[in-house]
Amino acid sequence: MSTQKTGAASILSHQNLGAQQGVNPSISDSSTYAFPRAQTMADTFEGNTEGCYLYSRHSTPTNNLLAESLAAMEGTEAANVFGSGMGAISAVLFQLCSAQDHIVSSRTIYGGTYALLKNFMPKFGVQTTFVDSTDLPAVAAAITPKTKVLYCEAISNPLLEVTHLKAMGDLARKYGLTLVVDNTFSPLMIAPMKQGAHVVIHSLTKFINGTSDAVAGVVCGTADFCNALKSVHDGAAMLFGSTLDSARAASILKNLKTLPIRMVKHSQNAAHIAQGLKKVGYKVMYPGLEGHRGKTVLDAQLEPGFGHGGLMTLDAGSIEKANALMEAMQEAGLGYLAVSLGFYKTLFSASGSSTSSEISDEEQKEMGLSHGLIRFSIGLDHNPQDSLEKMLVCIKAVGITS
Ligand SMILES: *Cc1c(COP(=O)(O)O)cnc(C)c1O
Repeated sequence: MSTQKTGAASILSHQNLGAQQGVNPSISDSSTYAFPRAQTMADTFEGNTEGCYLYSRHSTPTNNLLAESLAAMEGTEAANVFGSGMGAISAVLFQLCSAQDHIVSSRTIYGGTYALLKNFMPKFGVQTTFVDSTDLPAVAAAITPKTKVLYCEAISNPLLEVTHLKAMGDLARKYGLTLVVDNTFSPLMIAPMKQGAHVVIHSLTKFINGTSDAVAGVVCGTADFCNALKSVHDGAAMLFGSTLDSARAASILKNLKTLPIRMVKHSQNAAHIAQGLKKVGYKVMYPGLEGHRGKTVLDAQLEPGFGHGGLMTLDAGSIEKANALMEAMQEAGLGYLAVSLGFYKTLFSASGSSTSSEISDEEQKEMGLSHGLIRFSIGLDHNPQDSLEKMLVCIKAVGITS
């Protein structure tokens, strides 16, 4: 590997000067691009796109700047940006699989991804076996001669399970599979490529953008794979068309520059609040807490300096109590009763009846997703002790028992 910087160093050192040396990226305000010569247009359609822009569903100068920065962050040769995280995920899975192929996926994944694998891809003859990805023998046992892809989230939604990425990478190599890792919950904290992933996906909508004003996604991988996704003949990115607008790409790229400091603060605040709640006996899950099932594996694969992330869960005991607590917390100004994550305000939602509602009751139970489980994306509050104290007042008022 080269000595090129990755992670936070790459975000801050990568230059994205715009036209006339503007310190921010220029926005390419065009859907189509003029060719100086007719032959160049023909060559470009033949796939010889080096240095030429064709049409903005394929690529734009601004989207490419954002993609380059994200590729540098993840340490991959290339990246493609998308109009959403699901746009990125669906393009990757449809690109890698044909009819009769098989996927082995972690069972605790984003609800939309679960629905895509469980309900949608079988229509095209692609079946998925869902496994507990922390149980490596179970993962290995699920692999068949038809398996093409191993799929997991570095830290899972919403149960914050930690997958042993190195072991998954070893399995992928042993059986000739592509390991696809959704790293949305742990940007900078985990570098899946270093652990053996082949493709890394993010929903940029969450921590990476961080301002809850845009929906976007990215796929980071080899140049060959990213070019294949963009092929005008058979590329899923090009043909499904979940394109990111250049104006949004520019705003996300500006927000990316503060991701390193935001991740540090999200982690500090979440660790403080999780520890405080645990101390008084509440059922809190946070991968930085002693006793969390995935802490040892996570500690071994963390990039130093970013903590254990901004997500935690609290089991309120029942959906009624969870709902009452979330309303009380919103009333108290602690954050918003809203899905999504990575915002400056704390966001909370009851996963079982919202972002994981695609997963049946029975399956939720099997994976340990209880009805009263509240997922928190802890915000950037200046004083987390103050937030913790207010939260404890709300918890007591609602009558949640420790
Ligand atoms: C939100 C999310 C997605 C989907 O991303 P969108 O930008 O909403 O399409 C995928 N994976 C995870 C882990 C997410 O949190």
